[in-house]
Amino acid sequence: MGSAKISNRLLQGIGASPGIAIGQVRITDRSRVMVFEEQVKRELIPAEVARFRNALAKAKDELRTLQEQIAAQRGAEHLYVIDTHLLILEDSMLTRETVGFIETEGINAEAAVTKTLRKFQQFFATIEDDYLRERGGDVETVVERILRSMVGKSQEPLNDGEGQAIIVAHDLSPADVLQIDKKKVIGFVTDLGGKTSHSAILSRALDIPAVVGLERVTSEITDGDVLIIDGATGMVVVNPDPGTFRDYLRRKQRYEYLERELLKLKDLPAVTTDGHRIVLKGNVEFLEEISSLKSHGAEGIGLYRTEMLFFNREQLPGEEEQFVAYSAVIKAMAPQPVTIRTLDVGGDKFVADLNLADELNPALGLRAIRLSLRQPETFKPQLRAILRASDVGKVNIFFPMISGVAEIRAVKALLEEAKQELRQEGVRFDEGIKIGIMIEIPSAVIIADLLAREVDFFSVGTNDLIQYSLAIDRTNEHLSHLYEPLHPAVLRSLKMVVDAAHAAGIEACICGEMAGEAEYLPVLLGLGFDELSMNAVSILRVKKILRRCSRHEAEKLVARALTFPTAQEVESFLKSEISARYSESFD
Ligand code: PEP
Ligand code: MG
Repeated sequence: MGSAKISNRLLQGIGASPGIAIGQVRITDRSRVMVFEEQVKRELIPAEVARFRNALAKAKDELRTLQEQIAAQRGAEHLYVIDTHLLILEDSMLTRETVGFIETEGINAEAAVTKTLRKFQQFFATIEDDYLRERGGDVETVVERILRSMVGKSQEPLNDGEGQAIIVAHDLSPADVLQIDKKKVIGFVTDLGGKTSHSAILSRALDIPAVVGLERVTSEITDGDVLIIDGATGMVVVNPDPGTFRDYLRRKQRYEYLERELLKLKDLPAVTTDGHRIVLKGNVEFLEEISSLKSHGAEGIGLYRTEMLFFNREQLPGEEEQFVAYSAVIKAMAPQPVTIRTLDVGGDKFVADLNLADELNPALGLRAIRLSLRQPETFKPQLRAILRASDVGKVNIFFPMISGVAEIRAVKALLEEAKQELRQEGVRFDEGIKIGIMIEIPSAVIIADLLAREVDFFSVGTNDLIQYSLAIDRTNEHLSHLYEPLHPAVLRSLKMVVDAAHAAGIEACICGEMAGEAEYLPVLLGLGFDELSMNAVSILRVKKILRRCSRHEAEKLVARALTFPTAQEVESFLKSEISARYSESFD
């Protein structure tokens, strides 16, 4: 390494996609187009508007061409991101605002579209939810494309260059990530981005190690530097010294060995040592996550959160658009089943077109099923779309935030109406479609026996159930130490739910984050859950432990765990049992 180079410099970013990559840097100029505001003479304003519209049209053409290339290269399931970008380009607000700025302020198109972007960004910045906030990044990517087309600046391809490299860029768009050739690019790091940006989601789905949100990495690294990136921890080492290099090489080999070992479990059954079969499924929000679910051996989708389709837009998706989106997910997952959850917005999940009023107490407010029941004009099209999609492949439907029997009966009445309409219209759907509810409110736990008579399955949303049982805001970092999945009240609740489900002969599933935490597996198994649904990367880890557990032993473990009065005591009991029985499984 040359003497001018920085040596063994550690940079901490956000781990976007796990895996360790070690290689030479290739800096890619994804730099922003510089925009200057200029006044445009009155008589030239129509021409300026036309220049903007042309750039918009050109950007659309480029995206469509890209769509074809990606479809040929990677198959149709990843095209969703490009669709999202096309939708943003087609968003009337983008055009209206930009043309408005050009006409009223007499400024150039570049400055006008940048002003519109700022306006969008101000809106996105106020959103609490990480995922939604990062949708602002999608708008930025799209505006950048329009700007490039206006100034005629093209981009160098990512896969060019000798040998394998780690890409270093200010930002990578989802389209960039989709074009990566893994033989040429072994990982990437960027200044911008967060864990739930589309580029990060795609890098996980495509299994490309990535660290994002490094802020100034492009100015701290030069071409030819050697980088180590650890996509799990977000650590980046620039020009590692020999000791660090060897250390990471060992970690990389260990990681890859463990991943290979896990992948061997992909097609093996999720069965305990005493022969009990548990179904392991995946949670998704996007079509592009499905390839990762499949490569991790998911036996279906246990929670398809539909709200993503409703975010970021002026007009809600209608029945047809929803039908198309649901069908795409069902086809991509076929022949495995897909359990679709109806809209869970409100609270901290905000959708502009639903005209939600500010609430003093949003977590206890007009959220999820309450909102759907109040707005049948939004709910009915969703029910119809899901029913129609049940003819495309195996579908179950379930409802979020059910608090009591009257609510689920009202839902079932609407569902029946939707079915009746479809029958009359001669539209096909699965007459035997299974209906379930999320158990996430303590009242639903307490009357689980009554609710079990109304539906075909329960799916416990532990994220909310813990929040509502312990009165701990799940998004408040100051309270995170009190958010205790092993709190005796939570364990008893889970037991009540499983027992009520089984007494009524229906299935008990769990789709909250707890299902994917491998160390809770012995507890969930011992409690008697039939199905666990989780993020893709957890599936094989959970399966590995499951295949080493006996359910009989796990039941005894749970019986003891339920006798402890505090979460700390439950936890230390479990830790000692796990290290005595299964420690080597938790590598
Ligand atoms: C849950 O509450 O556990 C759940 C799975 O739903 P969400 O995280 O979407 O609220
Ligand atoms: Mg929930």
